[in-house]
Amino acid sequence: MDPIVVVGASLGGLSALDALRTGGYDGDVVVLEAASGLPSDRPPLSKQVLAGTMDPDAARQPLAAKLEELRADVRWSTVVESFAASDLRLRLRNGEELQAAGVVVATGAAPRTLGGPNLAGVHVLRTLEDCLALRADLDVGPDRVVVVGAGFIGAEVAATCRELGLSVTLLEGAPAPMARVLPESVGSFVADLHRAHGVDVRLGVGVDGLVGADGRVSGVRLGDGTTIAAQVVVVGIGVAPSTGWLAGSGVPLGNGVTCDETCLAVPGVVAAGDVAEWFNPHFGERMRVEQWEHAIEQGAAAGRRLLAGDGPGEPFASVPWFWSDQYDRKFQMAGRPAATDEAHVFEGSFEEQRFVVAFRRGDRCTGVLGVNRPRHVVQSRMRLAESLAWEPIEALLS
Ligand SMILES: Cc1cc2nc3c(=O)[nH]c(=O)nc-3n(C[C@H](O)[C@H](O)[C@H](O)COP(=O)(O)OP(=O)(O)OC[C@H]3O[C@@H](n4cnc5c(N)ncnc54)[C@H](O)[C@@H]3O)c2cc1C
Repeated sequence: MDPIVVVGASLGGLSALDALRTGGYDGDVVVLEAASGLPSDRPPLSKQVLAGTMDPDAARQPLAAKLEELRADVRWSTVVESFAASDLRLRLRNGEELQAAGVVVATGAAPRTLGGPNLAGVHVLRTLEDCLALRADLDVGPDRVVVVGAGFIGAEVAATCRELGLSVTLLEGAPAPMARVLPESVGSFVADLHRAHGVDVRLGVGVDGLVGADGRVSGVRLGDGTTIAAQVVVVGIGVAPSTGWLAGSGVPLGNGVTCDETCLAVPGVVAAGDVAEWFNPHFGERMRVEQWEHAIEQGAAAGRRLLAGDGPGEPFASVPWFWSDQYDRKFQMAGRPAATDEAHVFEGSFEEQRFVVAFRRGDRCTGVLGVNRPRHVVQSRMRLAESLAWEPIEALLS
């Protein structure tokens, strides 16, 4: 019997493996991973590990300790180069071919870059190696760090750098941080939070390119022709789903791997985590979610879907959940709001830096975000899991 092949040994892939075993699958499973060892847990890489308050070895994925028990043939430093969905055959970079009985696509996403020449001092942040390289540059004590992109990763890196006592400029092309995913009023709160901690936040500015001397970055050139001098630049302008190896495979690709509501892409092929775009029946829309807990939950759903074989499988209906730590503020969010949703503030205020904001679209609540309000977000998530109706959330938070 051919093995089930899991591509990617991070949250989504290992969670799928766990679900296969939990679901009683006793056959062979091969896990293929491009990295040379178990990828570390990523959230601490922009927070405690970067700050130096957590040992890198402690940033372990939840299933790290259980890996042996899951009885998989795990192959590190193994890159899948191409795939044919018609006969479930994978080709590896080392020339080997592998016949699969089923495939879990869990290859995540890779950071977008600014392009241009390779300059020392310019960083992205995805892996432990990225984190340690950035940390080494921060340890030198640069006069200024410029963070390009005020999404969650950029904002966390800016906060960590400030806590290390460094001068930081945070650049964002949109009129507010997180403008792709949150209404402007909430993004403006994030900008104010960073300004209150001494970050030079510049919004609505385009980056024209990087300036370097002797192979090392010396500044960031803005669209208006001015340059900000910087010895370290962190590029946090989002990620692209890692689907290059699936080009021409017969697996449908759009914003990632296009799956149905059960996480199935084509017969025998499921996808999970940052790489997967699926129809979330709870929200009635297609989405691709780049969040820690989501990758685990969807990995499990994808594993179960493979076990369902030719049957219809179970829809993966979820209320995504996310957190972000910036300074002493803990952001938590349940749901999937859009920038165009109305934002209603409950329980506190932006001025207090402690509040709950619920997002409204017509008669629906699309999400609830709390800053230092964990109980309200947990309760809201449970309510949203029952229904996305606005009234129950309003009643809960009023
Ligand atoms: C710095 C950082 C901080 C974060 N903080 C938070 C947070 O606070 N809260 C939160 O909810 N989420 C956070 N996230 C997001 C969360 O970590 C991701 O959503 C999660 O890691 C996605 O898991 P995944 O398994 O889908 O993909 P990944 O973790 O990207 O893993 C994919 C794996 O596939 C491997 N791979 C790729 N291509 C191939 C190939 N062709 N062949 C073989 N292997 C391949 C890669 O090497 C990689 O190990 C953070 C992410 C980062 C980078």
